[in-house]
Amino acid sequence: MGAKQPNEVLAEARREVLDVQETACCVVGGGPGGLMLALLLTRRGVPVTLLEAHPTFDRDFRGDTIHPGILEILNEIGLADRLHQLQHVKMYGPAFPTVEGPVMLFDFRRLLKTRFPYIMWMPQPVFLEFLAKEARKYPSFRLVMGANVRRLIEEDDAVLGVRYRGADGWHEVRASLTVGADGRFSRLRKLGAFTKIQTSSPVELLWFRLPRLSGDPEGTGIVSPRFGKGQILIMIDRADHWQVGYFFPTGNYQKLRAAGVEAMRRNIVALEPRFAENVKHLTEWKQFSPLSVASSRCPRWYRPGLLLIGDAAHTMTPAAGSGIKYAIEDAVVAAKLLSVPLKAGRVSTQNLAEVQRRREWPTRIIQAFGAFGLKWVVGRALRSGRPFRVPRFVGLPFRLPFLAKLFARLLAFGVWRVHVRN
Ligand SMILES: Cc1cc2nc3c(=O)[nH]c(=O)nc-3n(C[C@H](O)[C@H](O)[C@H](O)COP(=O)(O)OP(=O)(O)OC[C@H]3O[C@@H](n4cnc5c(N)ncnc54)[C@H](O)[C@@H]3O)c2cc1C
Repeated sequence: MGAKQPNEVLAEARREVLDVQETACCVVGGGPGGLMLALLLTRRGVPVTLLEAHPTFDRDFRGDTIHPGILEILNEIGLADRLHQLQHVKMYGPAFPTVEGPVMLFDFRRLLKTRFPYIMWMPQPVFLEFLAKEARKYPSFRLVMGANVRRLIEEDDAVLGVRYRGADGWHEVRASLTVGADGRFSRLRKLGAFTKIQTSSPVELLWFRLPRLSGDPEGTGIVSPRFGKGQILIMIDRADHWQVGYFFPTGNYQKLRAAGVEAMRRNIVALEPRFAENVKHLTEWKQFSPLSVASSRCPRWYRPGLLLIGDAAHTMTPAAGSGIKYAIEDAVVAAKLLSVPLKAGRVSTQNLAEVQRRREWPTRIIQAFGAFGLKWVVGRALRSGRPFRVPRFVGLPFRLPFLAKLFARLLAFGVWRVHVRN
């Protein structure tokens, strides 16, 4: 039998598709950005299908911070009080980990005019479930879990939807607009042939969890670092366990991986001898979650019928601690600009360009702050093996009320404050 002609291959692939759904907006990825976009659009009466590759929202180490700006956004849509009924911890200012213990650079309570002068810490799965539950209240919302998007449906240069693989086979969703909210390893970014500019970072990070044992030091969600040459350990007390971050120089991951779990246990205990018992819980390498600390950005976030938001368009460094905030703000701006064109069934590339125009600079400015912190604070400490000190040029501005307020506003609300309403 001869090789199949392209049209035969296409016909075969089409026969495999179990169903074809039509919607106005197909959102790919049920992270904070995708869920918020779906919720806001569906509240405005736009039919939305959200496709999430995983069967649940459960995930470890994806960031648990909800900034004041996001709490204000949730308040604008009447959800902040309900969110506060779920278990959470409040952090009233950014803690800068130093050898003397965490130094609070400023206190949001003194500087911000808001009902929410704190960063809320809430496990991300709980937050995502909350958003999904709210979105499910609207009949125009459809959520498909376990839907792994593998292909774009394209005609000429325009994206008309996606094809995904579910537990039972292939399905198709056709939409006026497809949104790639599928995170830092975005498949839609690759399928859409978007270019990505990656910044370099002097450090990389492994996150892992250690059990809390009786006799461990008492804490309140505070970060305390331990320093060694070429390694820094950050411990976050999460009440029922320790969330631990291990910084190491960029390029050393394969060496650490090859040395194995036992060597990692020794590294950890050398930095924090009180973890000698706790580390016995580490038995497999998959317990360590690597996080590339570098940030990245796409020069262009859209093409006809397709828009990228959140980490798919730009990853933020953990030094800025704000990936969730920026993904949600992208969603808020996108919902505001696109709901009317979506209802009319006409989303132009100008509409999509406007989303990028409004969001690109706020993101790039915070990325620059993060890169500065990584290079000058974390990178330096890693090279020298000496503890963080609050550099004079960092500490000084926070003692000037005007500048302290400016920094507080920047961290809480970003460069431009984002509102759901116009
Ligand atoms: C270890 C770690 C710690 C972090 N700590 C913080 C923190 O403290 N504070 C903070 O603000 N940010 C933190 N971040 C960053 C934060 O998690 C992200 O910036 C944020 O989640 C981005 O949201 P998003 O909606 O753009 O993408 P994501 O949250 O990454 O969501 C993308 C979703 O798309 C789904 N998906 C992927 N591919 C497909 C596909 N082909 N088909 C269907 N679905 C797909 C994924 O399963 C995922 O659910 C951390 C990240 C990591 C990795």
